[in-house]
Amino acid sequence: MALVNENYLKLKGSYLFSEIAKRVGAFSSENPDKKIIRLGIGDVTQPLPDACIKAMHNAVDEMSNAKTFRGYGPERGYDFLIDKIIENDYLARGIQLDFDEVFISDGAKSDTGNIVDIFGGDNIVAVTDPVYPVYVDTNVMSGRSGTMGDDGKWSDILYLSCTKENNFVPKLPDKRVDMLYLCFPNNPTGTTITKEELKKWVDYAKENRTVILYDAAYEAYITEDNVAHSIYEIEGAKEVAIEFRSFSKNAGFTGTRCAFAVVPKQLHAYTQSGEKVQLNGLWNRRQSTKFNGVPYIIQRGAEAVYSDEGKAQIKETINYYMENAKIITAGLKEMGLSVFGGVNAPYIWLKTPDGYTSWSFFDKLLKDANVVGTPGEGFGPSGKGYFRLTAFGNRQNTIDAVSRLKSIKF
Ligand code: PLP
Repeated sequence: MALVNENYLKLKGSYLFSEIAKRVGAFSSENPDKKIIRLGIGDVTQPLPDACIKAMHNAVDEMSNAKTFRGYGPERGYDFLIDKIIENDYLARGIQLDFDEVFISDGAKSDTGNIVDIFGGDNIVAVTDPVYPVYVDTNVMSGRSGTMGDDGKWSDILYLSCTKENNFVPKLPDKRVDMLYLCFPNNPTGTTITKEELKKWVDYAKENRTVILYDAAYEAYITEDNVAHSIYEIEGAKEVAIEFRSFSKNAGFTGTRCAFAVVPKQLHAYTQSGEKVQLNGLWNRRQSTKFNGVPYIIQRGAEAVYSDEGKAQIKETINYYMENAKIITAGLKEMGLSVFGGVNAPYIWLKTPDGYTSWSFFDKLLKDANVVGTPGEGFGPSGKGYFRLTAFGNRQNTIDAVSRLKSIKF
């Protein structure tokens, strides 16, 4: 008799997005004439940079010729892309990385999800709350969660609350944790922390032999100087952190799929008997066994992100989204709402007005403005009473959505 991994049975379906789809579907069928504007999802809307398109066309042509055809590539990624990443994302910020510390992948979702494979089942996990759900769900799947309580928290996971009361800066855990997920700039709150704050986490991790799983998927949106683009800007971080990056949100690769993880060779975890093990080797083993690399064509597209033309085009798109963020933030502030994020990230996080839960606010926006956002409590217990809007829409929809929101009476 084949047994199932019963950890999967602990997980509910994706309640958040299915519930949103259900409510929007019901509203649309009752009001077929209403044009709904979606500022809820985290997907981008602007096309891939021209530089990437050209590079991918060239790569397709190479595939048509036996002399330049490529079959299986290196599982960890092609040299041409890894070299560009090291030079532009790291060396340019004074961070030295070896070639074999960078692993190209098909997404930060896969990487942040798959990384649990190389960690022991008894590790204590901490997440900031609210949180990108992948970190929690993949630890449930791999047996590190315990049971779900009435408070919406897994019994064995430590939740580090981020609310307006602490200015969205999580407090260091009051006990030792083994794996710690940090995402800055943050999805869903759109907020981030300073280099000084990040240094406290690196120091904590050193003292406690914690591994930080640092998700920097929104690094390209940072506008303030005192915010780290990479955790390795912080002294000592290579001994404690894995960093995840993605081409999804800077270059629009959400459908094209390319990302990378950095696993420094100085980073170790331990066996039960206390023996030190390099995580770089374990991740390499995991990836080369379970993953066959990102397509050549896509990696050529990602390489073009680092060309002069590519850099200029990406900057333009990011500016476009960040202008949307300004429009949304200004509109919400005019409405008298408390608004966070939107400065170093394409997410705007707002406190729902008195008397509104995340979900009743969702319903109000849908019915009175035909605008769809995301209820904060879908991202964790500390998201209760908050709401997320994204700046990834097109300009006209963003302007229209804000003017509709402003006409709502609360
Ligand atoms: N990490 C965070 C925090 C995200 O918000 C997202 C996507 O929304 C991802 C990772 C996924 O990125 P990718 O498209 O590279 O899988």
